[in-house]
Amino acid sequence: AVHSHNFDNPGFKGVSEIPLGLYINGQFVDGKDGRTHPVVNPSTGKEITKISVASPADIDVAVAAARKAFDTVWGLNTPGHIRAKLLAKLAGIMEDHADEMAAVEALDNGKTFFWAKNADISASIECIRYYSGWADKIQGKTIETTNAKFCYTRHEPIGVCGQIIPWNFPLLMLAWKVGPALATGNCIVLKPSEITPLSAQLFAKYAHEAGFPPGVINVVNGFGHDVGAAIAEHMDIDKVAFTGSTLVGRKIMEAAAKTNLKKVTLELGGKSPNIIFDDCDLEAAVDWAAFGIFWNHGQTCCAGSRIFVHAKIYDQFMEKFVAKAKQIKLGDPFHPETKQGPQVSEAQFDRIMGYIESGKADGATVHHGGERFGEEGYFISPTIFGDVHPDMKIVKEEIFGPVGVVIKFEDDEDVIRQANDTVYGLAAAVFSKNINRAIETAHKLKAGTAWINSTNMLHHAVPFGGFKSSGIGRELGEYALANYTEVKAVHIHL
Ligand code: NAD
Repeated sequence: AVHSHNFDNPGFKGVSEIPLGLYINGQFVDGKDGRTHPVVNPSTGKEITKISVASPADIDVAVAAARKAFDTVWGLNTPGHIRAKLLAKLAGIMEDHADEMAAVEALDNGKTFFWAKNADISASIECIRYYSGWADKIQGKTIETTNAKFCYTRHEPIGVCGQIIPWNFPLLMLAWKVGPALATGNCIVLKPSEITPLSAQLFAKYAHEAGFPPGVINVVNGFGHDVGAAIAEHMDIDKVAFTGSTLVGRKIMEAAAKTNLKKVTLELGGKSPNIIFDDCDLEAAVDWAAFGIFWNHGQTCCAGSRIFVHAKIYDQFMEKFVAKAKQIKLGDPFHPETKQGPQVSEAQFDRIMGYIESGKADGATVHHGGERFGEEGYFISPTIFGDVHPDMKIVKEEIFGPVGVVIKFEDDEDVIRQANDTVYGLAAAVFSKNINRAIETAHKLKAGTAWINSTNMLHHAVPFGGFKSSGIGRELGEYALANYTEVKAVHIHL
């Protein structure tokens, strides 16, 4: 018997009933060995409920269900327009429950209800709807070869895809993976983060309601070291798509290499540069820089965490940037005036505070924040460091919290060199009113995304992914379809 929980949330009127099991072969079930895991509200540090956790044996059952569905009712057995219809229906159901999903995300992750609703949930719905539009447009090419012979290509689904996602945008990272996988005809075994499993439960409930055949979508909760590893190592999973840390990304690739050489796509970490030239619109640059590092409490893979500011405007920028950070109201994620909630967990809180302490010990100047906020929960004041050195840990490593370093520069070529001096290459931003200077700089930055006069702008039709150690492959847009299809060339001999 699977338990469920009634959440009487302060953020919306009504009660949300959330299943708390594994969703396998069209049913919510308990894990085979009966284990559960506490779900904690990061605003209070208190447990809100317990959720069933899978064992590797449950993964075998989920994979077998996915394989059976792929070979019988999905994959090449369902025309694209049926997949399109189901995805569109799912997007509609999600839209009907947008407030409920946003409240669950705010409760489980700690992000504000406002942003959960207006970014995470709305973008997830748009993403699913966008890929519904692609489902009946997956086409190959005809290629003429010599002597009146020809060849055509088919873009076939890969098969059973394992999908492992992080806690920073629980539903949105799910949508980025599920949308293109289902549109192209794959079946999925998805593992949400053990830290934020609740919105994936609602997703499974709505997918069930939309009428996806049993086995097409499977959601397995659990930890990385056993459930995640079981997915990465599984001999009957054809592809694994992962979003998370670079460290775990390496383990996923290793597991794939040691088993069946399953296809691997990775969306990993970042330490994104944000270059602010002296000819920028300063007020706008300050606003965007704050959004770049403080949005989602800095728990954003593409966060603009290294802010390079031209020497001519450095003092002015710092003064305005600190004033901006002062205005950020921390507190209850459901309160309409709150701009920043807690970090997601005690472990993340400790990790970020460790980085802050290392910055102080290394001699960097704290211009704002640098401390815990409040007495309960995992709140950290927006933190700004100046007077940093390129070798400091706070400059080199991904902190994944509301901590930005501001670096003074004088020369365009030198700042590009410094910006590129990192193992990461996820995103970068440039601020200038001179379009030539801005575009030339954007082209020289080694990153999968370059924003001109903005930060953190994402859109379901635009590819997103990393250069260098920030990943392999692209999510979103037409580009993501290639991550979920195998190309078959059929030669015709006349
Ligand atoms: P994480 O790597 O610790 O965990 C991510 C997921 O992997 C979780 O579901 C976890 O359970 C699972 N996992 C952990 N160990 C595993 C193992 N050995 N085998 C298989 N799965 C395992 O990352 P996190 O702390 O959840 O998320 C933060 C990281 O994610 C940051 O580095 C951030 O930059 C990155 N991220 C990247 C993107 C992107 O699109 N590039 C987006 C969001 C987050």
